[in-house]
Amino acid sequence: MSVRIVIDSLDFVRNAGVRHGKIPLSEFKRLHSLLFDHGGELSFHVAGQYDENERPGLYLEIQGDMQLSCQRCLDKLAYRVDTQTFLLLAKTETELSQHDDNDELDAILAAPELDIISLIEDEVILDLSISVRHPDNECSMHSPAPDENNLIDQAKNEHPFAALASLKKTNRT
Ligand SMILES: [Zn+2]
Repeated sequence: MSVRIVIDSLDFVRNAGVRHGKIPLSEFKRLHSLLFDHGGELSFHVAGQYDENERPGLYLEIQGDMQLSCQRCLDKLAYRVDTQTFLLLAKTETELSQHDDNDELDAILAAPELDIISLIEDEVILDLSISVRHPDNECSMHSPAPDENNLIDQAKNEHPFAALASLKKTNRT
């Protein structure tokens, strides 16, 4: 059985609506490829509010524990979601693109049938995009790197012709 939570977003704000609940991780289809197992759930709280400039928006809180797959070693990686965000509801595409130009604002398009599950999923994916892998010292795939990056940096710092000369040498052999 699939859970669906749909709100009329602007109406929800006008009525100071509040919804909260728990959603099994298995409902978040787009997260599946990132999960080590689908057990567990996320709890959420969403409230229709106006910001200090009287603009309508949704205050959204998401919490829960997930078992992700480390993108490096594919082993289990415990991850705690704990995010709070305020999403302005833009009434038109133009308004939305104006908000998008402002880094301090998060905005979505107001919709008469806004899918809360999908919204929560978007937020969790944004939250995860930083890095889905173990810290270097905890990852089984991490071996002290044969510092390729450093070599490149060194080459950059040398006189450009010196780098060119070393390239020519390798070509000749
Ligand atoms: Zn790992």
